[in-house]
Amino acid sequence: MSSRARVILLNAALGPLDYRVPHGMTVQPGSIIVAPLGPRQLIGVVWEEDSFPDVESVGDNRLRNIVGPVDAPPIPETLRRLIEWTADYYLAPIASVLRMTLASMSALEGARTVIEYRATGDLPDRMTEQRAQAMERIGERQGLIRELALIGGVSDAVIRGLVKAGAFEAVEVSIDTPFPRPDPDHAPPQLSDGQASAATEFVNAVRQRDFAPFLLDGVTGSGKTEVYFEAIAAAIREGRQVLVLLPEIALTEPFLERFEKRFGTVPISWHSGLRQSERRRAWRAIASGEAAVVVGARSALFLPYPNLGLIVVDEAHEASFKQEDGVHYHARDVAVMRGLMEKFPVILASATPAIETRHQVELGRYREIKLPARFGGAEMPGIEGINLLTDPPERGRWIAPPLIKAIDETMEKGEQSLLFLNRRGYAPLTLCRHCGYRFQCPNCTAWMVEHRLTKRLACHHCGHVIPSPRFCPECKEEDSLVACGPGVERIADEVKALWPQARTAIVTSDTLWSPAKAAEFVKSVEAGAVDIIIGTQLVTKGYHFPNLTLVGVIDADLGLEGGDLRASERTFQQIVQVAGRAGRGQKPGRVFIQTRMPEAEVIKALIAGDSERFYEVETENRRRANAPPFGRFAAIIISSEDADEAAQVARLIGKSAPPIDGMRVYGPAPAPLSVLRGRHRHRLLIHASRQIDVQSAIREWLDNITWKSGTRVAVDVDPYSFM
Ligand code: ADP
Ligand code: ZN
Repeated sequence: MSSRARVILLNAALGPLDYRVPHGMTVQPGSIIVAPLGPRQLIGVVWEEDSFPDVESVGDNRLRNIVGPVDAPPIPETLRRLIEWTADYYLAPIASVLRMTLASMSALEGARTVIEYRATGDLPDRMTEQRAQAMERIGERQGLIRELALIGGVSDAVIRGLVKAGAFEAVEVSIDTPFPRPDPDHAPPQLSDGQASAATEFVNAVRQRDFAPFLLDGVTGSGKTEVYFEAIAAAIREGRQVLVLLPEIALTEPFLERFEKRFGTVPISWHSGLRQSERRRAWRAIASGEAAVVVGARSALFLPYPNLGLIVVDEAHEASFKQEDGVHYHARDVAVMRGLMEKFPVILASATPAIETRHQVELGRYREIKLPARFGGAEMPGIEGINLLTDPPERGRWIAPPLIKAIDETMEKGEQSLLFLNRRGYAPLTLCRHCGYRFQCPNCTAWMVEHRLTKRLACHHCGHVIPSPRFCPECKEEDSLVACGPGVERIADEVKALWPQARTAIVTSDTLWSPAKAAEFVKSVEAGAVDIIIGTQLVTKGYHFPNLTLVGVIDADLGLEGGDLRASERTFQQIVQVAGRAGRGQKPGRVFIQTRMPEAEVIKALIAGDSERFYEVETENRRRANAPPFGRFAAIIISSEDADEAAQVARLIGKSAPPIDGMRVYGPAPAPLSVLRGRHRHRLLIHASRQIDVQSAIREWLDNITWKSGTRVAVDVDPYSFM
């Protein structure tokens, strides 16, 4: 009897396939292999047959042979279960989840080595002047022929001659140089009493080697990072791997620096900006267990750590942990699931926890560890409201008089200010004063945003750009175009007009597009080379500038527009976070928020400094609406380049909605972003009570419907975006 194996290939359109395992080859569930598919060869992973009871068995005589194993450790069993769970929960093809695990094709090409040379200690029979010089200069060093020739100041041929003569020998070395190990005892801090007792809880949990979900809840600047560093130190001492998830690549750089100060070396980073060789080296170190600490964006979660002992999700409330394309997973939630399956603690750290997370604490499922005060006694800044209706800025301006006065005072004291507006570019809309024409993206239902620094209009959804126009394309009128509304660049112009002597920095993903740029920005603020920072949400997190004492929020109401489920919560979190940038050192901070809605619950709570009240009211609202975390949502998004086709499939899906008690289906309706990247979009929203297995219902529902291949039907379980 020939042996066979069930394989998941990296192809989302395929289910599991059976292959023959040729004589002399051994594979087991988890083995990464290469298998033929038609004329091609694909990477795949051997899987348990029981995981797919419905797969039709193919006769032995029709099986094709596995080509061979890949030189990489097998995918651990617990991770296979997590991959299955994720595919199941988020209704995604298992191959799409697996692809996030096998995230470096180069790493799967196996160990790669190069040949280097070094002196053997023997002298060649025939010694020439050149040979003597080379041997003298190279000494004990090791390197490629080319490198040794350079050091020796001779030609490659001379080095080759020395190899032949037995004076140098070949050594095979891996191109993946090992990473230095972080040292848990490098520079431990003196913890405050509150910090120390929190740290003890975490250290014990790490040693326990059991699932333990924590919410680490403390105001910005309370020392959450220092505290979870102790948990990391404990895991390193236990010889286990650690993953720290951050919401934003821009935060990686300051994190690396802090980590290095504490542990003597930087952790391994994982994000979309890595070069192929860096990715390869990181992946292999992670899979072999050599990588001690990894810091990364959400995609680092599915990597094949064989020995994970702790996950920290920092700024755990951030919506960017939710992936909005491909597999629509929430990294915070899947991190907790990984902790459960692999038996280790998971720490969710946040100054403004998500309502969902607080709810888990209330249910007794997560343990809450609180750090009540800022470290070193710095005061949390008070928040003052500026009512734009009674205290408006000048016409065509956005900074109201009380905020101008506060910036004046801050400048006089030689301290730094931060103006926050969560909008990139100069103006969100450009229109023609003469004929009313508005610049819209040809591919999306969205206005083109003016970027004056780069002299173009850009669509923030699909990336379409055009050069800044000088006349109206409709009526051809010149000088008729007006910018409507502000973006950060426009606020920076206003700042320049008001304080010509001020040194400013604009901080958005346009200006801080690399870790190096982010590091440069931090250095210049720390060095006191910046007086006023104007930034988007990119500046709300992570930064610690002791001389920054004033924060002004240009438009606190911005996030409340559109009003989706989490609009208030997001506004609250964002403003508390940006407020937390003020007064982190010895000097007290001040925060002003400009608003047209001083009566909105969230604005009142912010000004009163009463976050408990905000959470209570908001939680109660959710409970009454049976919205998450009480009820559940899922969305079905239908899209096609063909408008009729999209509408038709959406209607068909809507008509076939199963009648289930406790589950309601809204729509289909054109999505708010009704055209995106040239695709016409329709949405259905499913609202169900917690007891209902929404995933199974949707799976069965969609299983009976077919659509043309150009149409996409995506399911978004626990959606964060309703666009
Ligand atoms: P959070 O993560 O809660 O915002 P941080 O961990 O960034 O707070 O701490 C805020 C500041 O206080 C940082 O500059 C940090 O280095 C400092 N800090 C916190 N705890 C200690 C400590 N025990 N000893 C020395 N400095 C500390
Ligand atoms: Zn567009």
